[in-house]
Amino acid sequence: MNTERSRALFAHAQEIIPGGVNSPVRACRNVHADPLFIAEAKGAHLTTVDGDHFIDFLGSWGPMLVGHAHPEVTEAIQQAALRGTSYGAPSEAEVLLAEEVCAALPSVEMVRMVNSGTEATMSALRLARGVTGRTKMIKFIGGYHGHGDAFLASAGSGVATFSIPGTPGVPASTVADTLLAPYNDLEAVKKLFEANPGQIAALFVEPVAGNMGLMLPQPGFLEGLRELCTKNGTILVFDEVITGFRLSYAGAQGRFGIMPDLTTFGKIIGGGLPVGAYGGRADLMKHVAPQGEVYQAGTLSGNPLAMAAGLATLNILKRSDYAALEARVSAFVAELEQILKAKGVPVQIPHIASLFTIYFTEAPLRDFASVQTSDVALFESFFKQMRAQGIFMAPSAFEANMLSFAHSEEDFAKALEAARNVKF
Ligand SMILES: *Cc1c(COP(=O)(O)O)cnc(C)c1O
Repeated sequence: MNTERSRALFAHAQEIIPGGVNSPVRACRNVHADPLFIAEAKGAHLTTVDGDHFIDFLGSWGPMLVGHAHPEVTEAIQQAALRGTSYGAPSEAEVLLAEEVCAALPSVEMVRMVNSGTEATMSALRLARGVTGRTKMIKFIGGYHGHGDAFLASAGSGVATFSIPGTPGVPASTVADTLLAPYNDLEAVKKLFEANPGQIAALFVEPVAGNMGLMLPQPGFLEGLRELCTKNGTILVFDEVITGFRLSYAGAQGRFGIMPDLTTFGKIIGGGLPVGAYGGRADLMKHVAPQGEVYQAGTLSGNPLAMAAGLATLNILKRSDYAALEARVSAFVAELEQILKAKGVPVQIPHIASLFTIYFTEAPLRDFASVQTSDVALFESFFKQMRAQGIFMAPSAFEANMLSFAHSEEDFAKALEAARNVKF
């Protein structure tokens, strides 16, 4: 692996961009590595500025479910660009994408486009507070809902792996209304409701958590949250920024058969361009301005290029075989686990759909505290040896790998061969 040009760019970047990156985890500090600068991506493959090729297991942290530079998505973006890049007035593509999202998820009757997952969750929280007249919210320890102030209390990998308790810059008064419970702990949630009667506007949950590494909901957990929220008049928000259109075309809620009140989207819905969205019950969404009184706006919201990329992506996904991809990922993960176990290290690889995380621990996995028993030194060694062999994995022990429909049997075979060569 040649990293000369990446290293030169990174050195220069660090002088003019904080940490040399525009989003912290990209810096690869958790694994004590330097980031590789990417020049090109196609299908399941990345090419660095130094001309090295990698099989991409990161998928841009989620958006690339159909693979990089899919010809249909690229064509849609090109055609849209020829018609102008922003109007500040409505366009047809916004209606088409909204229609597509509402048709895909039964719980979503109306939807508002924004520019990122962060914006989607911030807006959903404001709406929940505006509608209920309450201020408190519940989130789960290790759950990540973007970098909005109210959500930055115990907020998953990006914050967790740096061991910053929340972050400077967020007033204590802001997170005072953020109540925390361990993931998969219904009893703790019940106690929060009992201690704060009539005060909790919203409960935010990743229906499958992807930001403490992959964490599956235990049977009954999501159903229990649904019940508690209904009983307490609290708005249940599924943060499907990762799981939307990935766990199934109808998201995690479609897969598990649970109707949240509001849902937040991002990543896949923009086909690799900056998009987020929040939507849900019409009687709630009708409170969003200008139909209602809860203000939320955006100069580039519903951007024609982003809508075109999102629409093209959803059109491909609609005819894609999710079950076949899951079966391939399942088989791959099972073999990977065998290979690592044979090397005598403690390992577990939870997986669902096209997501998986390798945890170097034998502790039962149920919440953020339990995943933190994972041996980060083993992870770092594994990550570096895989990267040296051309496999580009999520650069943290507490992140999920995000595979795509573009990954071939040959890609999986190469990754397994690389894993066989790893020495601990
Ligand atoms: C990535 C993510 C966000 C934030 O989305 P951005 O587009 O990065 O702002 C919110 N929630 C979840 C579950 C995410 O994975």
